[in-house]
Amino acid sequence: MYINGQFTSGQATEKISIINPATEEIFDDAARGTPEDAAAAVEAAGAAFLDWKWVPANERAAALHEVAAKIRAHHDEIVRLLTQEEGKPIPENDEELWWVEETFDYYAELARHERGRVIPPGEPGQFNFVIKEPYGVVGCIIPWNYPLLLLAWKMAPALAAGNTVVIKPSELTPLSTLKLVEVACDHLPPGVVNVVTGYGPEVGKPLVTHPDVPVIAFTGSLAVGQHIARLAAPMMKKLHLELGGKDPMVIAPDVAMDQAVSGLAYSALLNAGQVCTSTERVYVHESIMPQFSEELADFVGKLRLGDGLDESTDIGPMIRDKFRVKVEDQLSEAVSQGANVLIGGQRPTQIARGFFLAPAVVTHIDHSMRLMTEETFGPVIPLMPYKDFDEAIRLANDCQYGLGACLMSYDARLVKRFFEEVKAGTIWINDPLTDNFAGPFGGMKMSGLGRELGQEGLDEFYETKHVHWDVEGGVKEYWYPY
Ligand code: NAD
Repeated sequence: MYINGQFTSGQATEKISIINPATEEIFDDAARGTPEDAAAAVEAAGAAFLDWKWVPANERAAALHEVAAKIRAHHDEIVRLLTQEEGKPIPENDEELWWVEETFDYYAELARHERGRVIPPGEPGQFNFVIKEPYGVVGCIIPWNYPLLLLAWKMAPALAAGNTVVIKPSELTPLSTLKLVEVACDHLPPGVVNVVTGYGPEVGKPLVTHPDVPVIAFTGSLAVGQHIARLAAPMMKKLHLELGGKDPMVIAPDVAMDQAVSGLAYSALLNAGQVCTSTERVYVHESIMPQFSEELADFVGKLRLGDGLDESTDIGPMIRDKFRVKVEDQLSEAVSQGANVLIGGQRPTQIARGFFLAPAVVTHIDHSMRLMTEETFGPVIPLMPYKDFDEAIRLANDCQYGLGACLMSYDARLVKRFFEEVKAGTIWINDPLTDNFAGPFGGMKMSGLGRELGQEGLDEFYETKHVHWDVEGGVKEYWYPY
């Protein structure tokens, strides 16, 4: 762990084994932190906040640029570690870490520009302004699928705004976070950044319930997000919740077949389908369904499964067997209800170890199946035909989640209807899973609260204060007595 500028085992008496999902081998361990460790980190972050909040914006910006530069200097080492603990192929972790570096640079600059606004007074002699100020200690609770990207989207704006942070990485992937802090945060004052490793109930919950942590920035599952919301409610904490998704993609008949096939395969199978915005429901115009499903199955069948460290790998393992079993359950249940698996869905026999699952393309499905209603979080592409665009939009919206949605079409009339009528935090047209530093990312409906990236992602870490100043002073005629 990293508390108050020191690497420490804190009060931990046990370790958590870190497993490489491609080999199922334990390759390292991390401290199993305790509630006392979480409390110590909060205390350190609270003390550091008293000074960090007053550090001039240009100095904070320089410190964050230095974080970015130091990560870049250790880029390849961290990328490799990400692949060992999470499983994604090297090119995907290369991309993840590039995003991390750029996010620190982006927020270093954005937070320098302003800290509020002056507003017109209600009466002569008054001066009114709005100040944005940091909250204090931010608890950052992170999942395993993008351990550093989802950390940077919280840590960079939180620090840039003048907060301090206590980070709780996933118990499955704490090593890359510790490495990032080791190589890139040593110039920050002690206590500004802290990391407590361990399990959710043991170190995450104490952050959520700690009276001196006014903000919880969480990315993870809907169930844990709801649990955190319940825990935080008595203290009225500011919650930033990035939760699950079940993203639809609509394929219009006008689109080029190769774009739709490879774009869909990428958006459904990136990180073995373990992306919150993975395409998990696909609606294909009925006129192209036979050709499309055949070409997609052919394309997917040629993708190479393997260890992410191997350059020839397209798709790595899933992170753990229990998540693979969940996907297999959804698939076999769908098959028992009439679904047809065109390709994949089985454990590859040519790979001896690792939590691999061959990517599947499935047809003959409908919305009565869990495969089309619950988050799958695995390498499965379910295809369902639609007759007209009204039906496509209705199906796309028929879901409890609203994280992202993609349309493949060049028809401007369809595009406008899609982005106006589909309820999702991000709409992609012809280019799924693309982010933009200035573009807010987050979910509608059950996919969460708040936004990351962009100005919105910085504002999550500011509290707003209105200052009403009667400059001259004096007794007001509307005060007592009436
Ligand atoms: P998870 O909810 O199981 O765990 C997320 C984090 O919460 C982990 O660090 C975990 O230890 C911690 N946690 C667990 N119980 C806790 C408790 N009682 N109190 C406090 N913290 C607790 O999620 P996961 O399996 O790590 O990640 C996968 C999920 O994350 C998927 O549902 C995915 O959709 C979602 N996700 C969402 C986004 C987004 O931006 N919306 C991005 C990535 C992943």
